[in-house]
Amino acid sequence: MKTPSSGGAQHGPGWFGPFGGRFVPETLIEPLRELEAAYDAARRDPKFKAELKHELATFVGRPTPLTFAGRLGEKLGLRVWLKREDLTHTGAHKINNTVGQILLARRMGKKRVIAETGAGQHGVATAAAAARAGLPCVVYMGTDDMARQAPNVARMRMMGATVVAVDAGSRTLKDATSEALRAWSSDSRETFYVLGSALGPHPYPTMVRDFQTVIGLEARAQILKEEGRLPREIIACVGGGSNAIGIFTAFLKDRAVRLTGVEAGGTGPGPGRHAARFAGGAPGVLHGTYTYLLQDKNGQVLPTHSISAGLDYPAVGPEHAELRRIGRAKYVHASDKDALAAAHELCRLEGILPALESAHAIAYLIRAKRRFKKNDIVLVNLSGRGDKDLGTLCP
Ligand SMILES: *Cc1c(COP(=O)(O)O)cnc(C)c1O
Repeated sequence: MKTPSSGGAQHGPGWFGPFGGRFVPETLIEPLRELEAAYDAARRDPKFKAELKHELATFVGRPTPLTFAGRLGEKLGLRVWLKREDLTHTGAHKINNTVGQILLARRMGKKRVIAETGAGQHGVATAAAAARAGLPCVVYMGTDDMARQAPNVARMRMMGATVVAVDAGSRTLKDATSEALRAWSSDSRETFYVLGSALGPHPYPTMVRDFQTVIGLEARAQILKEEGRLPREIIACVGGGSNAIGIFTAFLKDRAVRLTGVEAGGTGPGPGRHAARFAGGAPGVLHGTYTYLLQDKNGQVLPTHSISAGLDYPAVGPEHAELRRIGRAKYVHASDKDALAAAHELCRLEGILPALESAHAIAYLIRAKRRFKKNDIVLVNLSGRGDKDLGTLCP
């Protein structure tokens, strides 16, 4: 196994410059190799690609539209377009990835699937795809997240999933992920682990990115059709980083298009008050990958806070760490308060209720409006809808 301490950029599959890799206990090395080989074969197989495409069109509801946000844009002096991942089945981009992974699970002959979830969106998307495939599904979720995202717990159970309450540590996504990895290593022969973001050991960051790249491929064609030119900037919120990498990837070679990821600024810069890994973190290993991580001087993972459960995680996907290192993407953060205000603003101006996660991207756009020239085109990835957040939005 290559380690970060061997210095410099690493090469080969699973590495993004010095970031990424596969830092797991011995028991998970073989299951990850098996997964890597199966995914490698599947992504080259025209039958798998056709099946995935059909499922995305007829079950997920793709392509999702690009919506012109005229009133918000008028207020900001910009041409704002929203990529509507909130309109997918189950209400967030997560379903693009779960449908792909569960097709792969079936192809590998696995008998059941497990997943971790924070906001519950990945749990719901896994439960939905698993029900459709006839595979039993177990979802690990922190007890704090179960309380603040209760409607999603009910939806998972409706779809036949078993929700396992994780009452350890911070009782959020980090602990749910640790528990899911433990469960996987105890039964990896029969079980497929559906990981929810562009995180974790290789091949997950690459595989999840690939399944989410459909967002950017669609958006690029749509904006060219509507505007006849590319946007000045693309803005997406960053939890683990899957919706952001999903929209960024199709534009990486368009050097004039600025790519901006928005992390959770929470209630301030102090430890435990936010999840802005690039503002307060340093490289380290968590859940099998080497990346930016919120940690103390001794390498202990710090607690995090965000008003949105989906951004409340101490590590960021390794490919984002590399995009930032090479200067291709920029990472900023938006506070709880600004995200709440942005959600209300989008409701009033455009009749769209965004997820609190997505509202962080809108909040940054509102704050950064002076960085643009009049009539610049800005494309915001609206990663999900906010019905699940009504309890927080209007208590
Ligand atoms: C899970 C989630 C996120 C954060 O996850 P990424 O992997 O960073 O995309 C953002 N928005 C919504 C709506 C989510 O459900």
